[in-house]
Amino acid sequence: MRSCRDITALVSQGLDMKLSLGERLAIGVHVMMCSRCRNFQSQTQFIRKAAHRYTEQLQQQLDKKS
Ligand SMILES: [Zn+2]
Repeated sequence: MRSCRDITALVSQGLDMKLSLGERLAIGVHVMMCSRCRNFQSQTQFIRKAAHRYTEQLQQQLDKKS
């Protein structure tokens, strides 16, 4: 069983790079039992999606101007 510190570190890493199957499994098992890490995971994914959308909108606006 990994600690919450390990899991949040893995979740953050997973935003930037691909995790191994073992790492993704460790996250999956942990968040099933730990609501704090589940919240952390959903928040980071939400922020990432929002940031992605924002970047796309910005790009579209820049495309229109040029
Ligand atoms: Zn946890």
